[in-house]
Amino acid sequence: MNSKIVDHSKIPDLEHRNFRNDDFWKEIPGWSSVTRGEFADHMWQLKNSVRKVAQIKKLLGDTVSKEFIADLESGLHTTPMNIRITPYVFSLIDWKDPLNCPLRKQFLPVGSQVIPDHPMHMADSLSEDDDSPVPMLTHRYPDKVLFLPLTICPVYCLYCTRSRVIGGSTESVEKETYGANQKYWDDVFEYLMNSPKVEDVVISGGDSFMLNAKQISYIGENLLKIPHIRRIRYATKGIAIFPQKILTDDAWVKALSDVHKFGRSLGKQVVVHTHFSSPREITKWTQMAMDRLFSEGIIVRNQAVLQDGVNNHVDEMVLLTRQVGYLNIQPYYVYMHDMVPGCEHFRTTLREGVELEKAVRGTTAGFNTPTFVCDLPGGGGKRHVASYEYYDEENGISVWTAPYVKPGKSFTYFDPIHKLSPEAQARWADIPTREAMIIEAVKKAGY
Ligand code: SF4
Repeated sequence: MNSKIVDHSKIPDLEHRNFRNDDFWKEIPGWSSVTRGEFADHMWQLKNSVRKVAQIKKLLGDTVSKEFIADLESGLHTTPMNIRITPYVFSLIDWKDPLNCPLRKQFLPVGSQVIPDHPMHMADSLSEDDDSPVPMLTHRYPDKVLFLPLTICPVYCLYCTRSRVIGGSTESVEKETYGANQKYWDDVFEYLMNSPKVEDVVISGGDSFMLNAKQISYIGENLLKIPHIRRIRYATKGIAIFPQKILTDDAWVKALSDVHKFGRSLGKQVVVHTHFSSPREITKWTQMAMDRLFSEGIIVRNQAVLQDGVNNHVDEMVLLTRQVGYLNIQPYYVYMHDMVPGCEHFRTTLREGVELEKAVRGTTAGFNTPTFVCDLPGGGGKRHVASYEYYDEENGISVWTAPYVKPGKSFTYFDPIHKLSPEAQARWADIPTREAMIIEAVKKAGY
């Protein structure tokens, strides 16, 4: 992709205010008689979450072809993620064309779209484990930490950067833990108590939607009681894929709201970070859920992941940006895809990220425009997509620095090989040539 390919957005000006509000789940043969009241119930959503291919076959009947089901079964042999999808998302998939649907692509693996991993991929691409002083905590930036209190989510995303630990084991990846590892939480609080520079805690995982109300309160109150901690953020993809929880799990919303009020009483911020990647995830249910959170005074920010065939088109990205802004969700980041296993088909070139950023900027207010970033492999942290030191586009090698986080060190990010020219692909296939290209790029960057 180059600047000629990324044209101006053709999205009509008010398109972002149209939210789907029909009984779309009734198009799934197995749910044709499910009422709106049942569909709204968060317990119904959890109980009917889709986890097995046999369940998919039963729910859809003849709606999908045998070939698609076989493709799905073959995808399960290599994916690092379990299948888990809420009925909300499952019913929003375009079952007339599942192979090309951006929602199917995010949650259901198919063998026909798998591409071999990049030779420089890493299971822990962001080196979170290297920067972990106590279990379940990453401390990289001086004033900010990442707390991972659990390893489960209401959906499992095929693009997950923590696929090495999230969800249950699969045919290709053995995982050690499952669920909320509460036994380590107090060690985390003690470490933070003794780390006076830390002001900001991201509570991620896993997904905060899978913490129960008591756990939301326990974590929030313990963190806020640490005098030097000023900001906490609960991270969840839940608002995007399970808005019914916000609408009907009153105990959970109350726990979040109470932590928020407790934070305000201390002059501290409690916010939610969520994870919309496709306009197709957004409906009237999302708007109702956001109206409730907004009325509680809770600020929500969005972090999307740039994915090939999901949102790497200017129209999709502009619509997503305007929609979340309209719903009082601040578009915060769009990430270049991390170099983790099982995701090569999702990755885009750095050039695509740079050009999309240019195309999206100016389509709405600046504070409602996301920053496109590359989270540097090897632990350099997030850098603006255009802030690389050197970019060999022909061979797909970019070189970066992170002067404050890791002074004097250089980092490399690589474009997906299948998007390079045949000549460049041949160079990557030869190991000595590949190594020489990387050394040369780093040298040209001055390192
Ligand atoms: S919700 Fe987040 S942590 Fe869970 S699978 Fe998706 S990307 Fe990974």
